[in-house]
Amino acid sequence: MSSIRAQVIIVGGGPAGAATAYYLARAGVDVLVLDRARFPRDKPCSEYMSPQASRILDDMGVLSRVEQAGAAHLAGMRVRSPAGTTFHGRYAEVEGYRGFRDRGLALRRTILDGILLARAQEAGAVVRENARVTSLVHDATGRVVGVDVVEGEARHTAHASIVVGADGLRSIVSRRLGLATTRRGQRRLALVTHYVGIEGIGDSGEMHVERDGYFGLADVGGGVSNVAVVVPRSRARGAAGDPASFVDDWIRRRPHIAPRFARAMRVSPVLATGPFASASHRAWAPGAALVGDAADFFDPFTGEGIYAALRGAELLAPHIAAAVAAPAAADSDAALKAYDRERVREFSGKWAVERLIGAAVSFPPLMNIAARSLALRPSMAHTMVGVTGDFVPAREVLRAGYLLRLVMPWLLGATPATPALTNTE
Ligand SMILES: Cc1cc2nc3c(=O)[nH]c(=O)nc-3n(C[C@H](O)[C@H](O)[C@H](O)COP(=O)(O)OP(=O)(O)OC[C@H]3O[C@@H](n4cnc5c(N)ncnc54)[C@H](O)[C@@H]3O)c2cc1C
Repeated sequence: MSSIRAQVIIVGGGPAGAATAYYLARAGVDVLVLDRARFPRDKPCSEYMSPQASRILDDMGVLSRVEQAGAAHLAGMRVRSPAGTTFHGRYAEVEGYRGFRDRGLALRRTILDGILLARAQEAGAVVRENARVTSLVHDATGRVVGVDVVEGEARHTAHASIVVGADGLRSIVSRRLGLATTRRGQRRLALVTHYVGIEGIGDSGEMHVERDGYFGLADVGGGVSNVAVVVPRSRARGAAGDPASFVDDWIRRRPHIAPRFARAMRVSPVLATGPFASASHRAWAPGAALVGDAADFFDPFTGEGIYAALRGAELLAPHIAAAVAAPAAADSDAALKAYDRERVREFSGKWAVERLIGAAVSFPPLMNIAARSLALRPSMAHTMVGVTGDFVPAREVLRAGYLLRLVMPWLLGATPATPALTNTE
């Protein structure tokens, strides 16, 4: 068993880990990233990034690389309710707010994550792939001072002033710290794959909410579309054994979707993940911090996980730099605690919106009513999409007036069976 040392060890080289490593290395901190995977590696994801993610990509100096790699540009989101009502929110049409860009970007994770990790290396971070962290190392006071790593046949202990858990949904760092918690609400599973040749792929992402889950569809560049089927765990029997047949069958049973797949061909394996209702009590412990999915998982419906990972990294890095330079353990703890406070301030509005959207998705009559309101009032749809696009403050859709207008059809006595409306443009 050999020993490795760095000022900061980051467990996980996905968007959260790579961006944290980049910002720390840029600030002159000695950083080591450990990832159990070999890159390029895939990750079940709908692969869409909000317009505001482009601001951080630009700040990291990779926005043009992402675009040159063939990312698709998405003008907004089109959402169809179980009753067939469709509303379309467009970023460029939000009243009173402008995003960093008027479009979101979508790119295969096999490409995006490689670009981000390479950027961290260029800035000076050391990356070790195929390096699986198995446990945390503590000192006599309980403070985290390192990790145990398995690299092939070799086992090491790696020591650091701070360990960052950027190791995703089932974060070992979060679990070993006793910080992982399960969110209440419906537990869902996701199946993600790619097709070419789907009919009618437009300039916006699509979400189709069904009575038994939801279906996402988006251009991810190069003529390829990302397809995601998300179902409650109770409806996912058979998904684990033969995920491809599960997806085929799910699509075949939707008359509004199936014809569009008549000439389509699947071009990647079906990846399954979930359940994903996870969060953490807090995102720090003495000697450690959490970022990205390891800290909190956003429901995939809103497509905000990558932005949250990048933004979380941007918030965390200065606090870690302060913790590393701190003269005493108490000062280091104070810096990490300050990160957690900032994170809660930054994301709590979004968590509320996420809970609201999650409730609507889990309860079809509510989704039908909200979709009807948003189809009748396109400006409300643009605002909602602007919030999920990360450039409109969450408070805009949490205001009593907005929420009241959202449920207005119900107050006026409209039933979910009201004939379908469409504001597709
Ligand atoms: C179905 C689905 C659809 C989604 N769609 C979108 C979308 O359209 N847009 C969006 O923004 N977000 C979406 N998300 C969320 C998004 O995928 C995540 O929020 C994002 O990947 C979080 O990045 P991360 O760096 O925190 O974690 P990850 O990307 O999961 O990276 C974690 C890394 O840690 C490594 N790791 C794990 N354990 C260990 C260990 N023990 N030792 C060493 N390394 C380890 C892994 O190999 C991995 O590389 C979706 C998620 C799902 C499930």
